Amino acid sequence: LTFDDGPHGINTAKVLDILKQEEVKATFFVVGVGPDELIKRAHDEGHTIGLHTYPHKYTEIYASVNSYYADLNKISDRVESIIGKKSYILRFPGGSSNAVSRRYSLGIMTTLTKDVINRGYRYFDWNVSGQDAERGATSASVYQNVIKDLSKNRSNNVLLHDIQPHTVAALRDIIRYAKANGYRFEPITMETPMIRHRLTN
Ligand code: ZN
Repeated sequence: LTFDDGPHGINTAKVLDILKQEEVKATFFVVGVGPDELIKRAHDEGHTIGLHTYPHKYTEIYASVNSYYADLNKISDRVESIIGKKSYILRFPGGSSNAVSRRYSLGIMTTLTKDVINRGYRYFDWNVSGQDAERGATSASVYQNVIKDLSKNRSNNVLLHDIQPHTVAALRDIIRYAKANGYRFEPITMETPMIRHRLTN
């Protein structure tokens, strides 16, 4: 399980409560807002803290390779100041397959996906999405979107957003479905095989 765009004062706390009760470790790709304490708590409770973006503004992040790294360093510094070590696990805003960056910088994802690895990072896209950031998402739609795409023939990297109340509402059922069907949950580490989308820019 991976959670993007948090932490959120209320919903991330609830996600952490559920993960603790269900004894599940996950990965949080955090941003520049939300309480430091929840990033600290997630780390202390055994979850992985990954880097997402500081302001989540595509115009700024993907304006150039330099501005991408300015953003990455900003969120990296935040995480380091909270958990006491650097994270080299990242998720690109919009995923590596995003086409939105084409508007600001042609070919930037082709450059960055190679370059971040040369700099010692590992990046993770997803192969299951709760579609929980979409307009009209409900706990039922998030649950269905996840369970329909889980597959036993691969490792599943599930994209969710811990800022969303309907994701909180769906989470326990998703976990219970997965447990009942023989899946295990693991936080991403530097040894986890990367899940990479096909690039479009
Ligand atoms: Zn995001």
